[in-house]
Amino acid sequence: MKLYTCQEISKLTCFKDELNSFEKLNYNLHLFICSKCRNYSKSIEEVSVKFKTIVKDRKACEEDIVALEKRAFDSLKKKSDS
Ligand SMILES: [Zn+2]
Repeated sequence: MKLYTCQEISKLTCFKDELNSFEKLNYNLHLFICSKCRNYSKSIEEVSVKFKTIVKDRKACEEDIVALEKRAFDSLKKKSDS
């Protein structure tokens, strides 16, 4: 069995979810023996978690704006009705 090189690991880290079980085993084995890649993978994961949180926050923010627009529109409509 040929282990991934550090270079391959750095490329694969972004596609970790798409690895098959053999590749994942190979990947994790490399992380087990290589602290450099272990730290790298950890920091990538932290960034990706933060990034996902930001995207989620932004989506929630967009929903707020839509609700706000609707409320503004409703109050304008009410004004023009009376
Ligand atoms: Zn490595």
